[in-house]
Amino acid sequence: MRLTRYFLPVLKENPAEAQIVSHRLMLRAGLIKQQAAGIYSWLPMGFKVLRRIEQIVHEEQIRAGHIPMLMPTLQPADLWRESGRYDDYGQEMLRIRDRHERDMLYGPTNEEMITDIFRAHVGSYKDLPLTLYHVQWKFRDEIRPRFGVMRGREFYMKDGYNFDLTREDALHAYNRHLVSYLRTYERMGLQAIPMRADSGPIGGDDTHEFLVLADTGESEVFYDSAVTDIRLGEREIDYDDKAQCQAVLEEFTSLYARTDETHDPEAFAKIPEARRRQARGIEVGQIFYFGTKYSEPMGATVQGPDGKPVPVHMGSHGIGVSRLVGAIIEASHDENGIIWPEGVTPFQCGIVNLKQGDAEADAACDKLYKALASLGLEPLYDDRDERAGAKFATMDLIGLPWRITVGPRGLKNGVVEVTSRKTGESVEMTPKEAVAKIAAIYAPHHPQLDLHPEPMANRSFHTWL
Ligand code: ATP
Ligand code: MG
Repeated sequence: MRLTRYFLPVLKENPAEAQIVSHRLMLRAGLIKQQAAGIYSWLPMGFKVLRRIEQIVHEEQIRAGHIPMLMPTLQPADLWRESGRYDDYGQEMLRIRDRHERDMLYGPTNEEMITDIFRAHVGSYKDLPLTLYHVQWKFRDEIRPRFGVMRGREFYMKDGYNFDLTREDALHAYNRHLVSYLRTYERMGLQAIPMRADSGPIGGDDTHEFLVLADTGESEVFYDSAVTDIRLGEREIDYDDKAQCQAVLEEFTSLYARTDETHDPEAFAKIPEARRRQARGIEVGQIFYFGTKYSEPMGATVQGPDGKPVPVHMGSHGIGVSRLVGAIIEASHDENGIIWPEGVTPFQCGIVNLKQGDAEADAACDKLYKALASLGLEPLYDDRDERAGAKFATMDLIGLPWRITVGPRGLKNGVVEVTSRKTGESVEMTPKEAVAKIAAIYAPHHPQLDLHPEPMANRSFHTWL
């Protein structure tokens, strides 16, 4: 994309309404625009990041064997009367009446609807296990929407639901979600720590929240600092292997890590003092096992092996897709702006032309741009007629991980400069080497770049970007 043809409404001033850095940077970098309290438009570059995050979520869900679908945002109230939650949910639910005086609501979550789909179409234990999920807009009329997309009223969420014959199978589904979530967050360059939590209005006993440590987080957390050393990394996971998924859960959840609702000061005191941490965190996901809480009242049963109907064991699992955009920025920025992790960056690199209008510099930039694009990468070429300082400031603010700087002086020696946004380090190399370097960096993130062909279960998965 050429910047002169793009829509990137960068703000010069710090917006007064933004209290935390991610909100401020999202407004300044032209990612979002508020339309009403807690309701945002996603401007083109913000939309790209949102889609990248969604894409990673899909890839990891599909890899775990979960099946994507799409349910509507509007739901009939009657379904929620069946589960008893229509009255329980309270003022967070946005209630709507249609022209026929039917009670509707804008879905805050989808347990009831998915249970309705299940009971209509699944009748036998032989159809299990089954995990369906979607990524859809939700609405919760939060009492205090704030911090931009972190606590919106309308927000984008992945929510998945497992249906299993037995508690044991449902706990495997729980473990599978835990593993797939760890992988999802790591691919976004984030560390999200699973912490024992409270189940809230979803219900159930077993639940973990995934928290990104950040001073601006709304959750108070207590943990053993040793949990921050554990990574899933590149290890091979067989999602059908119950023992393996259970072992990962144990590895990640044996050390003390809890939110304040489940905090146990006595157990906490047993951690060696040097490793005891009290901090704040951003909740970017949560997994639940709730057994037959919805299947029983809503009649979601299957015929068991002995021919008798049994209510299915269920769980639900959510990732805050839109909140993640803010959470990633909270975890990765400096005083000059955003620093996108390579897995979610809207453009893989920037090209800065130091002397727009100089025939040689223009031609070199065009050539670089085309070479990167032909590999399937998307560079953002700052082709504005602006001072170098202004171009650098924009690049730093919008946070592309790599910048290629092209100027007449370097070109005389046959080189351009490749700069890391994160470290600020610059290296001179030929344009050809620069293209190869950028392509190699992104090869693991873009399996469609056939540089190091890697076996990926989801290679054929549709990419929207
Ligand atoms: P919170 O405690 O932050 O209100 P929650 O526990 O009510 O969240 P869940 O029902 O667990 O939320 O929803 C799954 C995920 O959706 C959360 O982990 C969070 O990342 C995201 N989410 C929930 N509420 C909001 C919101 N108002 N704005 C943006 N994202 C949200
Ligand atoms: Mg939650």
